[in-house]
Amino acid sequence: MTTIADRLGKVRERISAACGSAGRSVDDVSLLAVSKTCGPDAVRQAHAAGQRAFGENYVQEGIEKIAALHDLPLQWHCIGPIQSNKTRLVAEHFDWVHTIDRLKIAERLSSQRPEGMAPLQVCVQVNVDGGAAKSGVAPGEALELARAVAALPRLRLRGIMSIPEPAPDFEGARALHRQVREVFEQLRGAGLPLDTLSTGMSADLEAAIAAGSTMVRVGTAIFGARG
Ligand SMILES: *Cc1c(COP(=O)(O)O)cnc(C)c1O
Repeated sequence: MTTIADRLGKVRERISAACGSAGRSVDDVSLLAVSKTCGPDAVRQAHAAGQRAFGENYVQEGIEKIAALHDLPLQWHCIGPIQSNKTRLVAEHFDWVHTIDRLKIAERLSSQRPEGMAPLQVCVQVNVDGGAAKSGVAPGEALELARAVAALPRLRLRGIMSIPEPAPDFEGARALHRQVREVFEQLRGAGLPLDTLSTGMSADLEAAIAAGSTMVRVGTAIFGARG
C-alpha cells in the first residue's frame, strides 16, 4: 500500500528534480500540502513525515481541522475564496491567506487580526487566463491592490498567488506560470518587498518551478484523489 509518507517523498523528489532542471536551489521552493477534504489523521501522517505547512479551501472545514490538530506545530494557509462573514474566523485561526482579490476583505482581515498574533501573511490572487467570473484580479490591477494591502497594519504582503487553467503540455503550462511571474516581478520592480510566488499544483508543479514558483500547493499527489 502506498502511504502518505511515500507520496510526500515522491513529491519532494519531483520538486528537487524540477529545481535541478531549472538551475534553482531546492531551498527556494516550499511545499504547501493541500489537505482539503482530508481528515485530521491524514494531516497527522503528513506531519509525521516532516510536512509542516497545510492549505485549506473551506473556512469552516479548516477551522475544525486546526482545532483538532492544535497539539501539532503546523502552519495553516487559507487558499479558498473568503466571504465577508468569514473574515473573522480566518483572521483568528490561519497564518496565511493566498486569495486576496478585494481590498474590502483585506481591510476586514487586518482589523480583525488579534493583537497577540503575528501579522497575517497574505498573497494577492492574480487571474492570468480566466474570464471576469474567476477569482483573482487582472494583472493590470494587481499593483494597485498590492500597494493598498501592503499598507494595512495587521497584514504582511508576501507575494502573489494564481491558479492557471490546466494546459495541454509543459510548454503551455510554463507560459501561463510565466505570466504570473511577470506580475510578481512587476510588483517587486515597483518596490514591494515580495518573496512568495504561489503557483503550481499536483499536475503542473514542474512547469511552475521552471517559471519561478517559490511555493507549490499540492493536494492529490500527496493525499490521493479527493472523493
Ligand atoms: C485543491 C487546490 C490545490 C491542490 O490541487 P491538486 O491538483 O490536488 O494538487 C491547490 N491550490 C488550490 C487553490 C486548490 O483549491
